[in-house]
Amino acid sequence: MDPLSLDPLSDEPAPPARPPGAAGVAPGDPPTDAPVPERALALLRSVFGHDGFRGHQQAVIEQVAGGGDALVLMPTGGGKSLCYQLPALLRPGVAVVVSPLIALMADQVAALRQLGIEAAALNSSLSFADQVAVEKRIRAGTLDLVYVAPERLVAGGLLDRLDGAPIALFAIDEAHCVSQWGHDFRPDYRQLADLGTRFPGVPRIALTATADEPTRRDIVERLDLGRGQVFVSGFDRPNIRYRVLPRGEGRAQLLRFLGERIGPDGAAAESGIVYCGTRARVEETADWLVSKGYAALPYHAGLDPEVRADNQRRFLAEDGLIMVATIAFGMGIDKPDVRFVAHLDPPKSLEAYYQETGRAGRDGLPAEAWMLYGLADVARLSQLLETSALPEAQKTVERRRLDQLLGYCETTRCRRQVLLAHFGDSLDRPCGNCDTCLTPPETWDGTDAARMLLSCVYRTGQRFGAGHVIDVLLGNETEKVRRAGHDRVSTFGIGTALDKNGWRTVIRQMLAFGYLVPDSEGHGTLRLTEACRPLLRGETRLALRRDPSVKAGGSAGRSRGAGRSGGGSGGAAATELSDPAAQARFAALKAWRKRIAADQGVPPYVVFHDSTLAAIAEAAPASRQALAAMPGLGATKLERYGADVLALLEDVAA
Ligand code: ADP
Ligand code: ZN
Repeated sequence: MDPLSLDPLSDEPAPPARPPGAAGVAPGDPPTDAPVPERALALLRSVFGHDGFRGHQQAVIEQVAGGGDALVLMPTGGGKSLCYQLPALLRPGVAVVVSPLIALMADQVAALRQLGIEAAALNSSLSFADQVAVEKRIRAGTLDLVYVAPERLVAGGLLDRLDGAPIALFAIDEAHCVSQWGHDFRPDYRQLADLGTRFPGVPRIALTATADEPTRRDIVERLDLGRGQVFVSGFDRPNIRYRVLPRGEGRAQLLRFLGERIGPDGAAAESGIVYCGTRARVEETADWLVSKGYAALPYHAGLDPEVRADNQRRFLAEDGLIMVATIAFGMGIDKPDVRFVAHLDPPKSLEAYYQETGRAGRDGLPAEAWMLYGLADVARLSQLLETSALPEAQKTVERRRLDQLLGYCETTRCRRQVLLAHFGDSLDRPCGNCDTCLTPPETWDGTDAARMLLSCVYRTGQRFGAGHVIDVLLGNETEKVRRAGHDRVSTFGIGTALDKNGWRTVIRQMLAFGYLVPDSEGHGTLRLTEACRPLLRGETRLALRRDPSVKAGGSAGRSRGAGRSGGGSGGAAATELSDPAAQARFAALKAWRKRIAADQGVPPYVVFHDSTLAAIAEAAPASRQALAAMPGLGATKLERYGADVLALLEDVAA
């Protein structure tokens, strides 16, 4: 049998037993009785090839390796996996990783094996014999990590069979699935609650990238993590450049965007996702992109399951494909080198937007989130909402979500500041890497409008929603206005300089600025905040974004050209190498990686990330030692590929 076989499901004979917890220990590593921080850093370097820890990684690893529980909140791409993979190597026994993303387990296992770590998966795609073999290896203590689907763990008595097996820790990935407040509730996760009592002394670590405060509290309670520690990392994804463009001729805009990034003929192959609102638009757009010479594939829930699975597999495995998809695509896609996410139609909420755009640039290299938005989209989304069968209370919540999204689209502020504020995080200064920072939008002096609005909200008792307040401002004598006596307040009819849509964008921007807040009970009523005072006292002025629909022409054209003129560095920056020789090395390394990956039947990034290849191409190391210093090159990969890479670099230089 091929000792390098990467098929995670293959029933290869168990390797000879090793001392527990000694996985991946290279000859130069500290002994297993050295202090945890020292051993952790040594393994980080020798096994994973990284120089140092990021964010809370070290603290989490020390907590869990020391036997404590943890809840870890880190944005996508923040480096959650290391938080359980390193403790798995530091503690004796096998780490059981619970994950709902069965489709990804094979890749995760393959990636770990590339690092010389003994890993396997247990899920419904395995034959009975394979399952038995994996369970045997768990009990024999010859595995470092095993990925298990939640339904596998709780059903079929697996937990009973794990009794008495050497277990290093339980890691519960995508932990928001345990909470009904989260957006992806999975009932099987509820059964993980008693892991703590069944396996006392075995540390548990829960990880997620999306959990607001109520969801967090729920996770701690449901998974009984009360005695553990919570680690919350900032949610910023600084390498993603955010751009929102007023919709013109949508397709031409997309083509221009792709042309900027990839070149008109798809020359600089880059992976990206284009989200569309409907299945029909997915298919049309994919066909159309293909007709324009781009390598594009469709993905939506209505496709034949085999075609769909095959398109997903190709997107993960091949370089430079564009996936045109509905939101059915993307859950758990952790392809690190997605260079752009383009929304041809707007997402449903800021949460959805952040999750969908978060699929770009997980490798930390420059990436772009690009979105089109127009008044027609707003009308379509609100109509969908109003005519839906949702209960009224739910509709109110959804209306607010839509307003938040629109507020983001229409903001004149740094987009990243608006996003982070929405997620309870903050950024002191404008980011310098979003369209509003790079090319400030056209604005108008909205001070008077804002004061009229605030005063109208105040005089009508802060008990009404946007529609009613606008009626009062416009002097509409509706039944509701008359009944409330609001045709007699001083702000009745003072706002006719704007129309209804004009007032709506003012209100959304005021919400986004935090001058107004919706009530916490979700009735959609507007209230003033402390932040209004300077504005009402006339101490500050307020610049509002000019809505392209309010003033036809002009501003739309201006912002469209923006991205390119703004330095133009947002584009193919992943491969922004200093000189042509480095670019040639990068291209050769990518071609070599593609061959290796195809031979082994794994996605290219499992062999090496783009960031590692780029660093090698830039530095052109000439010795094994110099190569070992490259990021992302641990002992096992150096052993496996070092000679090849050095030979290749010599060839390119010749
Ligand atoms: P998450 O699961 O949080 O989305 P991953 O665990 O997949 O993120 O890590 C994202 C990327 O960051 C991976 O390419 C990983 O190799 C890299 N990474 C993680 N930790 C470090 C580190 N300490 N130094 C360098 N790169 C790291
Ligand atoms: Zn910014």
